[in-house]
Amino acid sequence: MGGTFDPIHIGHLILGESAWEQFELEKVLFMPSGNPPHKQNRHGATNEQRVEMVRRAIASNDHFELSLAEMHEEGYVYTKETLKRLRAEHPDTDYYFIMGADSVLTFHTWKGPQEICDQCVLVAAVRDQMPAEELDAQILKLKERYHADIRKLESPNLDISSHTIRTRCMEGESIRYYVPDEVREYIQNEDIYGNNESC
Ligand code: ATP
Ligand code: MG
Repeated sequence: MGGTFDPIHIGHLILGESAWEQFELEKVLFMPSGNPPHKQNRHGATNEQRVEMVRRAIASNDHFELSLAEMHEEGYVYTKETLKRLRAEHPDTDYYFIMGADSVLTFHTWKGPQEICDQCVLVAAVRDQMPAEELDAQILKLKERYHADIRKLESPNLDISSHTIRTRCMEGESIRYYVPDEVREYIQNEDIYGNNESC
């Protein structure tokens, strides 16, 4: 699962756990993506802080793993290249790329959608109360357009996003239970999103 994880939250964690369970995965890799230096820490956490939050959030789960495959100092790494690299390193492994409905909707605009589909199974999860028919239609589109092996994840719709959490922090609202306690403490100690003492 790739993401900005600014910060990682229970939506990401339940997404990963559901995929692990439903597809009997060996493990789930959380791959925070790098931001170019000029884009770091403008509205959110630094690369280092995002990685640390992922590390803390997944520490208690044996089948969750942090991967720095997309974390590069120079900036963004494309998913198709990450997959190519991972598959070269582990030729006997089948990869599943896990994403929420918003990512499924914009998938055709990503760099090299065909190459991504050729290299992994796509796992699509509901989000933002998207009607099931709309997600199903999008899944069908990707199947037709890219011959994608794309499968729907049976996960609950959790109306939670990193954006909401950043906003709640800034406004001094509680983010308790939106993120694991270890992440909340880190946000407070590092003073990441403003007004952190009360979040
Ligand atoms: P932001 O609000 O900053 O965009 P985000 O909550 O969307 O953050 P990302 O790091 O952008 O988090 O998301 C990484 C991946 O996790 C994406 O594929 C996204 O669709 C998925 N995802 C994030 N939150 C949820 C959620 N609540 N339910 C399902 N999928 C989610
Ligand atoms: Mg997002």
